[in-house]
Order: sequence, then structure tokens, then C-alpha cells
Amino acid sequence: MNTRDVSGIGMTSQRTRERLVQRLCDQGVQDLSVLEVMRNAPRHLFLDEAMAHRAYEDTALPIGYQQTLSQPLTVARMTEILLAAGPRKNVLEIGTGSGFQTYVLSRLVDQVFSVERIKPLLLKAKQRLRSLKVWNASCKHGDGMLGWADKGPYDGILVAAAGDTIPQALLDQLADGGRLVMPVGSEKQALHLVVREGGEFIHEVLESVYFVPLLPGAVR
Ligand code: SAH
Repeated sequence: MNTRDVSGIGMTSQRTRERLVQRLCDQGVQDLSVLEVMRNAPRHLFLDEAMAHRAYEDTALPIGYQQTLSQPLTVARMTEILLAAGPRKNVLEIGTGSGFQTYVLSRLVDQVFSVERIKPLLLKAKQRLRSLKVWNASCKHGDGMLGWADKGPYDGILVAAAGDTIPQALLDQLADGGRLVMPVGSEKQALHLVVREGGEFIHEVLESVYFVPLLPGAVR
């Protein structure tokens, strides 16, 4: 890693980070373990240099290929919703993007599996996670609408892109007692939580959000 390492921009922005965490608390994030990870996560390392100075603002930021690194509030909320019923062993993430959400999950669960459809984004995310010595996250190139069947079933699934419906393959890969969180809708989107209880899938609609679309197929 170059000069933008953890002791560079990261240290000098400690106060900015504290402000961000305070803002997350003010907006209702309550899980202390999630807040702690957000406090220490080097978000600037998941952005291109030109955007890094904005890393600790509570806003979504461009990562190229018309995609965005999600707003910190959204990352924190989705993570806390996923973990609300207790620790998760293995989590599937759809939409690796910058790898930031993958990083946050990797600090809180045993194993993360993440799928990204845009190959150059995936390669960059993998490189970042490797340089941060994240060894419990595996990322692959593919269509996340199909999930990652051979690593499942998962006790958590987090989808970081919005679809009109929840893909059946993802519901199929949810373990008994597992929780899935995903933005659903096109113009207006809301976070949906699905909890699997045996053969039953219990749906709940939570707050409104804004995400890039979940698109079929993988691109090189
Ligand atoms: N969690 C990411 C957010 C990335 S934005 C981060 O922290 O940076 C959503 C991502 O979902 C984009 O990178 C987009 O390419 C990806 N995506 C959209 N549809 C997908 C699909 N079917 N399979 C895998 N990834 C998909």
C-alpha cells in the first residue's frame, strides 16, 4: 500500500471519524460492535485518491463504472439489521463494489463470501482486502442473483443493490434461522428483511434507501 495507509489520512481524520460515528448514533444506529467497526474502518482506502478526502462524510461516493460506495449510515444499518438476532457465522454479500461493506462484515462475522458482476471493481476490492490482511473474506466474479450455492447455506445474506424482487436463488441459499437484507424497489426503494424459519420466509419492510440497481449477468 502507498502513502495513503492506515496511519496517513486515517490518523489525521480521527476527529472526522468520531463525528461520523456520532452522526450514525444520532441517526439511530445502536449496535456498539457495528459502531466500533465503523469508527476504525479505513474508508479512505476503498476510494480512488481523488475521492479519499471525502471518505468520512456520511454520503455515497462514486467508485467508477457508474457504481457507488454506499453511504456509511446505510452500511451500518444493514450490518446491524443482519446481526440483530445474534452472531452470524457465514455471510453472503451481493455487490462487492469497493469492498468496504465486505471489510465491515469481515470484522463482525466468521466468514464472508462476496460476489461482484463488474470484474475490474472485483479485482480492486480483492487487492484492498488483501493489503488490509482480511483473510476471512472470499470474493468472486459472477452474477450475484444466482448467489454462491456451493459455499452456502448462509446464516446471513446482504444484497447491496436494489431489485424489484428478491432472487429465488438467494432465498434458497438462506439457512434455517438465517436473515437476508436487501433494498427492494426501483423509483422508491426500501430495505426488506427476510427471516427464514424452517420452510417459512417472514418478510418485513424497513426504512427507505437509495441503491444502484441489481443487474443480471457478469461483465468483464
Ligand atoms: N457494498 C458496496 C456497494 C457497491 S454498489 C461497497 O461497499 O462499495 C453495488 C454493487 O453491486 C456494484 O458494484 C454493482 O456492480 C453490483 N451488482 C449489481 N448487480 C449485481 C449482480 N447481479 N451480481 C453481483 N453484483 C452486482
